[in-house]
This record gives sequence, C-alpha cells and structure tokens, in this order.
Amino acid sequence: ASLRPSAPGVKAWRMIARKKRRIVLLGPPGSGKGTQAVRLAQKLGIPRLSTGDLLRDHAKKGTRLGRRAEPYMARGDLVPDEIVLAMVAQQLDEEAYRDGYLLDGFPRTLPQAEALGHMLSQRGQAIDLVVDLEVGARESLRRQLGRLVCSRCGASYHEFFQPSRELMKCDICGGGLVQREDDRPAAILERLRVHEEQSRPVLDYYAGQGKLRTVSGGGDVEGVFSKIEEVLAKEEG
Ligand code: ADP
Ligand code: ADP
Ligand code: ZN
Repeated sequence: ASLRPSAPGVKAWRMIARKKRRIVLLGPPGSGKGTQAVRLAQKLGIPRLSTGDLLRDHAKKGTRLGRRAEPYMARGDLVPDEIVLAMVAQQLDEEAYRDGYLLDGFPRTLPQAEALGHMLSQRGQAIDLVVDLEVGARESLRRQLGRLVCSRCGASYHEFFQPSRELMKCDICGGGLVQREDDRPAAILERLRVHEEQSRPVLDYYAGQGKLRTVSGGGDVEGVFSKIEEVLAKEEG
C-alpha cells in the first residue's frame, strides 16, 4: 500500500481549479518549481508564467530587455526589478492570462511582490495563494548540478534523478536536452546566496497576508506533487 496521502478526486479538483486562479510558486533555485509548475498548471488548466523562461526567451531573441538581462543571469544575480516587471506586465496583459495563472519564480524581491499586488489591485484582482517549496542548500545544489533542460520547450530533467526516456532527448517534444549556461557551480552558489538574502521578505509579505503555505520539496517528484495537491485541497475546507 502507498504511504502517500490520497490525492483529491476529480470533483475536488474542479472546485480548486474554479477558486484558486492566481497562484505563486516559490522556492530556492533547484527546489523543483519548474518541474512542479508544469504539472500543476496542466492539472488546474491555467497557464504557467516562469520569469526564468521568459527572460531566457527574451535573451535568445535578443530583445532590448533580453540583452540587458543577460549579464545578470549569467552571474546568477537577479535581473533588476524594472526589467522583470516590464516583461511580466506585458505578459499578463495577454488574453491567455485573463482568468488566472501560475507564477513560477516570481515575485522574487519585495518590490516585485508589492508591484504585482498593485498591478492586480488596479484590476480588482489579487494573488489567491502562495506555495513555498522548501529544500536545503545541499539538495538544491545537487539538483542544479545535474539539471538538463529541453532546448525547445524548456522542460526540466536531471541526469540522475529525473532522466529522460531517451538519452538527451525531451520526453514531451523530442527536442535536444542541454545544460543551462548558468548551471555552473559559481553561478549556482551566487543564486543560492541571492535567494537567501532576497526571498525572506517576500515570504514574510505573503505570510502577513495569510496566503503563504509551505511544502517540503524533498522526496520524489510525484510525492512533492501530492503534497502540493493536499495543500490546495485544504484551502477548499
Ligand atoms: P532557478 O531555476 O535556478 O530558480 P530561474 O530559471 O527561475 O532559476 O531563473 C534564472 C535566472 O533568471 C535567475 O538567476 C535570475 O537571473 C533571473 N530571474 C528569474 N526570475 C527572476 C525574478 N523574478 N527577478 C529577477 N531575476 C529573475
Ligand atoms: P527550479 O525551477 O526550482 O530551479 P527545477 O524544476 O528546474 O527547479 O528542478 C531542478 C532540478 O532538479 C532539475 O534537474 C529537476 O529535474 C530536478 N528535480 C526536480 N524535482 C526533483 C525531485 N523531487 N527530486 C529530485 N530531483 C528533482
Ligand atoms: Zn521539450
């Protein structure tokens, strides 16, 4: 028998999907945000917005914002708030995000969180729930060191913990897997340092609003997903 708590049924999920429309997923680099966000967004039927993916996309296309962001990303430092906020505001204006979304890795600073709150309140909206994935520094490091990403669709894999079925090929789209340019030890350590420094105020901000839920990011991918499901189900009362 499985030791995992039972996941909410189809009916419960419809309720969750109806109510929890604007969700934020936070956690240290390598905690599995991207991995879980892809699954959760699909299950809830809402689009996922990852500022990391968005920034890499801008950089790849060589947009003005992308060119400005690139050096920060290469070092593992945060891209300045004004650049990230400009990109997010542009994106959230799109039709696809009108009825809700899952924010992955944003907001990452207190000014970003405040600006988001302001942006939403102007539209009569608000963030419904914030899930924080907790993992230790050692696990975060191990996960990032072996991370492989699809060069076409951005899906995350891990050389050892989450290997693709075919060597270096994406299970979802068949694209080639590559190592992220910023998944080098120096940049990883810098990202961890920056996260410790910048994330606490964001968590406090949402805790103060009663929206923060903490989930352990340890254990396998399915186990973590079940725990996130449980947290969402609990919100339904
Ligand atoms: P990780 O998977 O390691 O958490 P991401 O893919 O989310 O990293 O982000 C990669 C890089 O993009 C970050 O190191 C940072 O330079 C930049 N970035 C992503 N999201 C933000 C944000 N909300 N604010 C500032 N910079 C960001
Ligand atoms: P983040 O977006 O928080 O930086 P990712 O989703 O990119 O994190 O995951 C980081 C790395 O860890 C990837 O290589 C991914 O395959 C792997 N990973 C994700 N979740 C788990 C897990 N529960 N156990 C082991 N490895 C994981
Ligand atoms: Zn792919």
